[in-house]
Amino acid sequence: MDKLIITIAPTGSMPKKGHTPHVPVTPEEIAQCALRCQDAGASILHIHARDAQQNPSDDPRFFQEVADRLAGRCRMILQASTGGRAGSGLESKIKRLAMGWEMASLTTGSVNFPDSAYVNEPALVAALAREMLRLGIKPEMECFDLSMINNAALLAQEGLARDPLHFNLVMGLKGAIPATIENLVHMRSCLPPGSTWSVAAMGPHQLSLGVHAILMGGHVRVGLEDNIYYRKGELASNERLVERMVRLAHELGRPVAGPDEARAILGLAGRP
Ligand code: MG
Repeated sequence: MDKLIITIAPTGSMPKKGHTPHVPVTPEEIAQCALRCQDAGASILHIHARDAQQNPSDDPRFFQEVADRLAGRCRMILQASTGGRAGSGLESKIKRLAMGWEMASLTTGSVNFPDSAYVNEPALVAALAREMLRLGIKPEMECFDLSMINNAALLAQEGLARDPLHFNLVMGLKGAIPATIENLVHMRSCLPPGSTWSVAAMGPHQLSLGVHAILMGGHVRVGLEDNIYYRKGELASNERLVERMVRLAHELGRPVAGPDEARAILGLAGRP
C-alpha cells in the first residue's frame, strides 16, 4: 500500500468568517494556513480564491497572489480548483491553468448542489482536459457520482488524459452520491485499474470515510472546504483536521507521504 497522501482544502467556495473564524479567505491567510498544514503533514494544497467580500472568485490574480506568497516556502503540490461556485467560464479557467500548477481539479460531469445546478458540459470538460494535458498539469478527477468516474475513463480512452488517472471521490454533498461505506467501496470498484484515489466527504463523513480510505489504500482530503467542524458543536481549523488524520494514519499503521513522496505516487515529474 502506498503511503497516505493528505490533501488540504482550506477554503472552498462556501464557508465565510461568519460561519467560522478559522476559514482563510485572503491570499495571505490562505498561504499562512497552507504552511501550517504543510508542517502538520499535508502534501497537496487544493486552492480556491475569494474576493474582498469573501465570495468565490475566478480572478486569476487572487490565485496568483496565493502562489506568490507560497513561493520558496511551500513544498506541497499546488492544485488549483477549476470548479466551485465562482461561476467562471472556459476562458477564465484556461487562464487560471496557465499559471504553472502541478495539478488542477477537473469535474467530469454535472450534478446538483443543494441550491443550484453545477453544470460541466462535455465540451468544457474536454477542453479543460486537453489544456491540462498540453500544459503537463495532472488532473484530479472530481467525481460526485459514478457517471463522472466513467466520464474520466472515457477522457483517457480518447487521449485527453494520461493513465494512471487520479480521482477524488466527492461524497455526501446533498444532490450527489451519499457518503456511505458501501458507496465508497462501489466507487472504488468502478475506477480504472491502476488509478489512485482520495475521498473528500462532507461534514462529519470527512472523518469516517477518511478512516476507511486510510484502511482501503486510498488517500484523504480534509479541510474547511468540505467540513468546518472538528466534532459536533466544535469548530475545526484546517491544521487540526490534518493533524488528526496524521494521528489516525499512524495508529492504523499507514505511513504519511511527504510532498515528494506524493509526487512519486501520483507520477508527477516534480517542479523544475
Ligand atoms: Mg474545490
